[in-house]
Amino acid sequence: MDQQLLDLGLQTINNGGFAGLWNGQGPEQVILTPVDGTELARIKTCTKAECKQIMACCQQSFSSWRQIPAPKRAEVIKSLGEALQDHQENLAYLITIEMGKTLQEARGEVQEMIDICDYAVGLSRQISGPGLQSERRMHRMFEQWHPLGMVVVITAFNFPMAVWAWNAALGLVCGNVILWKPSYKTPLCAIAVTRIAAHILQKHRVDPAICSLVTGKGSEIGDILTSGKKVALVSYTGSVRGGRHVARLVSERFGKLILELGGNNAVIVSDKGDQTIAQRAISFGALGTAGQRCTSTRRAIIHSDIYEPFKEKLLEAYRATRIGDPRDSKHFMGPLVDQAAVAVMMTAIKQIRKEGGTILYGGECLKLPGGCYVSPCLVEAHPDMPIIQEETFAPILYLLSYKTLEEAIAIHNNVPQGLSSSIISDSLMESERFISDLGSDCGIANVNTSTNGAEIGGAFGGEKETGGGRESGSDAWKAYMRRQTNTINYSGTLELAQGLELIHL
Ligand code: NAD
Repeated sequence: MDQQLLDLGLQTINNGGFAGLWNGQGPEQVILTPVDGTELARIKTCTKAECKQIMACCQQSFSSWRQIPAPKRAEVIKSLGEALQDHQENLAYLITIEMGKTLQEARGEVQEMIDICDYAVGLSRQISGPGLQSERRMHRMFEQWHPLGMVVVITAFNFPMAVWAWNAALGLVCGNVILWKPSYKTPLCAIAVTRIAAHILQKHRVDPAICSLVTGKGSEIGDILTSGKKVALVSYTGSVRGGRHVARLVSERFGKLILELGGNNAVIVSDKGDQTIAQRAISFGALGTAGQRCTSTRRAIIHSDIYEPFKEKLLEAYRATRIGDPRDSKHFMGPLVDQAAVAVMMTAIKQIRKEGGTILYGGECLKLPGGCYVSPCLVEAHPDMPIIQEETFAPILYLLSYKTLEEAIAIHNNVPQGLSSSIISDSLMESERFISDLGSDCGIANVNTSTNGAEIGGAFGGEKETGGGRESGSDAWKAYMRRQTNTINYSGTLELAQGLELIHL
């Protein structure tokens, strides 16, 4: 086993459940790296009964954690951020070999975790509600925010650590306890991070069950987690299909829910824009993380006057993209997460051909160890190809052309998802229109930059089938708390609102 993994406390066989103590009595899972297909380690996953026990322990830890004042809770989160920083290189290495993104991107993912811890520390002294004007004499009305309880955080494989951190840092500072169910494809990342968190919590003499963990197949243990009556909030990051299932179970019991689902993100390349910026933004958006980001650029909508030269510019970038071992800094693209992901991409390529799309470049399985490497695919498409409506979680970019901005926006919005979007234009009129209510219908709308690579300071999430949830910055913390409106009467008599009187009393 690599020294970096040993330094994170990982072993050849690891328990996959944690709520103060490590356990795992479910089926053993073998983790293969997409880098070269070799075995990384094994996990003893959780049984359904263990999941229930872990949920009970996690829930119990709420009673003490909620009573710690938020700025004191922040001291623990500050230490967590520092510990993540101390382990940044090893954590990045682990992300790279378990999931396949390049080391550069993996370091960025760990940096996001550190940043959101800092953010939560600052937030700890700012959680507040407004004082409100009462219509009654000698009454005071105001709002307070209280913790919710146990938050179940279900994460996708493509950000195997950061999505937990976005939820955990905010959730914890708001006074909640966190139960993490990572993707079945990336449990080692979750075990390593939970080990670090547990160490910090023990150092601060806090019940380590406030950061609990269950691992196993979502299809087997997922429903226990999402339908549990004591689960105050489910934060689900994953596919639209999975989100629909989870939403049904959670809404049936009127539970709270944050949904962060699939995207189908586009960049409009205007004839009034800087084509070098456009090429760089689209290349980063479409090729970064091998097209496996929720915010990956999947469609380039290009003005017809510059379509041909811009297509050539993109082809140049695609030809120059170095693909290979993601630990080697000369490679910009590593493997897809597993062979199943490669098969999904190959099926989509067949479908593209069937629907009349022209493959301009790539779309092939590369003969590299492990069988998870592909060449990124550039497709000349037309807007009514049904496959364009779907998020294929792979490096496939559709090129479309437009004549007027109105047409570009109509093509842009004509998909069921609504996560991220961008326009490359130096025209103030075009840019403003794109981010106005007449423009992009996405949760994120950028000008002259990529669809991916969001900062933690903004609220992150999308509309339509992307689910409507928001995480990370701005006022996203409110989703992790319950709002309470308070009225205090200090007049010495009972005055009713709306001028009502108690006639016979
Ligand atoms: P996925 O839907 O296959 O899995 C997501 C999570 O759901 C995993 O942890 C999985 O184990 C779990 N799960 C499966 N069945 C479940 C059940 N019945 N109950 C509860 N949980 C269950 O997604 P994936 O392939 O890991 O990730 C890729 C998808 O995630 C893409 O669609 C991508 O766009 C999306 N994503 C969205 C965001 C966002 O912020 N909007 C961020 C990252 C990824």
